[in-house]
Amino acid sequence: DKYFTMKYSGKEMVDLIADYLSNIRSRRTFPNVEPGYMKNLVPDTAPENGEDWEDVVRDIERVIMPGITHWQSPHMHAYFPALNSFPSLLGDMLADGINCLGFTWAASPACTELEKIVMDWLGDMLGLPDFFSHRKTESKGGGVIQGTLSEATLVAMLAARHKAINTARSANPDLEDLDDAEMCSRLVAYCSDQAHSSIEKNTLITMVRLRHIETDDELSLRGQKLEEAIEEDTQLGLIPFFVCATLGTTGACAFDNLKEIGKVCEKRSIWLHVDAAYAGSAFICPEFRRFTEGIERIHSFAFNPSKWLMVHFDCTAFWVRDSEALEKAFCVNPLYLRHHRQGDAIDFMHWQIPLSRRFRALKLWFVLRSFGVENLQKHIRKGVELAKYFETLVSQEQAFEIQAERHLGLVIFRLKGPDCLTEELLRHLNATGKLYMVPASVKGKYVIRFTTTSTHTTEDDITKDWKLIRSYGMKIIGGNKI
Ligand code: PLP
Repeated sequence: DKYFTMKYSGKEMVDLIADYLSNIRSRRTFPNVEPGYMKNLVPDTAPENGEDWEDVVRDIERVIMPGITHWQSPHMHAYFPALNSFPSLLGDMLADGINCLGFTWAASPACTELEKIVMDWLGDMLGLPDFFSHRKTESKGGGVIQGTLSEATLVAMLAARHKAINTARSANPDLEDLDDAEMCSRLVAYCSDQAHSSIEKNTLITMVRLRHIETDDELSLRGQKLEEAIEEDTQLGLIPFFVCATLGTTGACAFDNLKEIGKVCEKRSIWLHVDAAYAGSAFICPEFRRFTEGIERIHSFAFNPSKWLMVHFDCTAFWVRDSEALEKAFCVNPLYLRHHRQGDAIDFMHWQIPLSRRFRALKLWFVLRSFGVENLQKHIRKGVELAKYFETLVSQEQAFEIQAERHLGLVIFRLKGPDCLTEELLRHLNATGKLYMVPASVKGKYVIRFTTTSTHTTEDDITKDWKLIRSYGMKIIGGNKI
């Protein structure tokens, strides 16, 4: 019967995943395939009749694996990591089995209830202010899981936009005749010149202006520069409404000065959102919370446990101080979504862009319970220690330089001299398939980003990677052929 087949095949798939992860070292980190490589490996059309499951499984190695960049590899140092863990994988397996779409409380009460609880747990772990907690019945704050950081920022921006338009209209009767599109064209969002491209994309969607503010020598957005820009725009009749501060930028993991930015936003009643996509996970360790000073003035905060907390993609933790601002911005209430407990319970469909939502809280719950805070902290600290180790190796070598201060698990380095040397180095290293790294532009220079926070990476792996990087670097410096 079909459940027997599923039990057998399901166990076989778990074996396959466990074998894949435990043997990941034996694979090329970065694949060696050309665009369109798969076309010749599979038929042009879907099969008319169902195939044997064994045949499908056999094709994983033949068709899929040759084109995989192995993100779980210990030698994967590109982007930010996307870690998984067995409790997380099993959590999603269960969620897929149940497959409820918890858009309203009634659509699947456990889905909403567990999400509130794990988001409160996680908020406590990060030391977030109380006003973000669902426990506080008198506050309007709470946490919700989104699919990506980009969506979380969009939700915050839409809520802030709605609020700003209404506030501006009621404060200035001259604006009452302007329609929403004309109002949007006056709204200005701000972020640093280091902020992630998703902020820009979100302003394209929301049709508001964006102003990138120049960062200081530490790649940090400072209050004074922000205030000057806001003042200038206000003088021009524009309406500053949203600031996105980044804690842990993509290029160099730099930190904006939240304390100074918060004061500016508070004075001018501007929505302050924090994008801590990668670095947010590190705030479970008290020693890294110095970057969050000033957090009591923010309106929303988002980070990706799917980057560093061993909860696999997708999982973005998003907290908002005034959930009513979201509900007002996304106010729809058709009959088919109404239920008998409306008003007594949260309907998370009003806190996000799509209607439907997966039961993501399960994987987060499994991870938090299986590891506990202490082991998760150990995991973060290990990643940071490995970065320190790599940093020491690089700084001992004359031909190399570190382009920006290392704060957590990301080291930014380059060969001294013109950019073309580092570009050549990266091209050759990635072509070996033995490791994978991506570049960034930091302070006008081409750099290689090296993240050390993968679950499988050990000190030996770093030593090995550095030997390869160093030997190629020396050849390039010496003008030798590789
Ligand atoms: N913000 C920052 C600082 C990032 O580094 C990233 C991606 O790495 C993002 C936003 C976008 O994240 P997502 O893919 O979850 O939208």
